[in-house]
Amino acid sequence: MKALDELTFDNRFARLGDAFSTHVLPEPIAAPRLVVASPAAMALLDLDPAVAETPVFAELFGGHKLWAEAEPRAMVYSGHQFGSYNPQLGDGRGLLLGEVYNDAGEHWDLHLKGAGQTPYSRMGDGRAVLRSSIREFLASEALHALNIPTTRALCVIGSDTPVWREKQERAAMVLRLAPSHVRFGHFEFFYYTKRPEQQKELGQHVLAMHFPHCLEQTEPYLAMFREIVERNAELIAKWQAYGFCHGVMNTDNMSILGITFDFGPFAFLDDFDAHFICNHSDDQGRYSFSNQVPIGQWNLSALAQALTPFISVEALRETLGLYLPLFQAHYLDLMRRRLGFTTAEDDDQKLLEHLLQLMQNSGVDYSLFFRRLGDESPELAVTRLRDDFVDIKGFDEWGELYIARVAREGVIDQAQRRKRMHAVNPRYILRNYLAQKAIDAAESGDYSEVRRLHAVLSNPFEEQPGMESYAERPPEWGKHLEISCSS
Ligand code: AMP
Ligand code: MG
Repeated sequence: MKALDELTFDNRFARLGDAFSTHVLPEPIAAPRLVVASPAAMALLDLDPAVAETPVFAELFGGHKLWAEAEPRAMVYSGHQFGSYNPQLGDGRGLLLGEVYNDAGEHWDLHLKGAGQTPYSRMGDGRAVLRSSIREFLASEALHALNIPTTRALCVIGSDTPVWREKQERAAMVLRLAPSHVRFGHFEFFYYTKRPEQQKELGQHVLAMHFPHCLEQTEPYLAMFREIVERNAELIAKWQAYGFCHGVMNTDNMSILGITFDFGPFAFLDDFDAHFICNHSDDQGRYSFSNQVPIGQWNLSALAQALTPFISVEALRETLGLYLPLFQAHYLDLMRRRLGFTTAEDDDQKLLEHLLQLMQNSGVDYSLFFRRLGDESPELAVTRLRDDFVDIKGFDEWGELYIARVAREGVIDQAQRRKRMHAVNPRYILRNYLAQKAIDAAESGDYSEVRRLHAVLSNPFEEQPGMESYAERPPEWGKHLEISCSS
């Protein structure tokens, strides 16, 4: 266990120099105080969880203090936003404070979001509001607990600093951790600005730091691209399986590591709705729930275009072709497990699509359905769940097929089946209304609800006595919250 001043830095990205990032100091927020910290994320830096309560913690992550070895930098990148290329993005309000390596030898980027203006702020104030910082914190740690790859969040620091969005709010900072903050948009920036030398430097850096095993291949860049395709196919399969809607899948929000990155107006589905759009400024539904799958491929094609100086177009095309089949395989595998199957049958896909159509038509709660399906024997579970469907006859037909499908796996031990299914079907998910209640309390100075919700979501598959209310269906008001994309 380490104290705060015992972190060891090795700022590899900063050493790439000024073509890749700009030195900028954090701009402190007034009266910094701890809103919430994640002990699990602190453990990644070997930090003693008790240090979160010390004043110096809030000072460090509220931009008042800095380690002598930290080298805060704003990274430059570009990207495709809603399908159009934006030539100049970059860290407009976040800073890479430095890279820390832990006792296990892992490197973690320390990225402070809401740290003030940078050369890439354009018209923005460089700040993040408390509400969006809490949402990013909760989602990062909740996704991780669901075994979905993601950036992590160490803490949220609140303040008295006013910021203006639709109304006056308070600034906050969130400390994000990731093995790398390199986005698809980093490669796009150097490609479209026609800087082949620097693009190569970036490529060599990413290969050496994050894909060293690819360097042993005859075509290292191609091997790396293939892995990026594989990781993103698996990531998006997990989003679809757990009903996570990212909301802003621009290429500057896509990680080369295939981890969930940059949280905006995200949502977990309450009622199943394939066409759900969580970002209310996404008029066309480009990033609707079901569109995340083809958009994943679109984004990988944008990255492929930027990698044409390194890889032949033919090889890129062929590799992109792996995305959909890989997505399908991962998704079906996860959904089979969610349905409690231990074997694979050809018709499983059909059975699943049939169920999702019924859920869509009746607006059935997506997460609760799967949890309850494992609670009891297939026969009993189906009988209990049928009342949730408007089309009861339709569901009964599905139920018969499901019971027969389970029966073909042979004799089942219900206790084992329940345990197996509960291990993949969470009891608690980050519903928008739960986040909203925690945010409302935090905005009036009470951080206890954010902390409680974070604790519940850190263990989503376990029954937690006394926490039943966190596992219920959302109230009607909670299903139709409009999450502002301003953050
Ligand atoms: P995002 O929508 O958070 O992924 O941000 C898109 C781009 O806008 C990135 O370059 C951000 O750094 C920048 N940005 C977002 N909000 C602000 C802000 N309040 N001040 C400065 N830049 C911002
Ligand atoms: Mg972003």
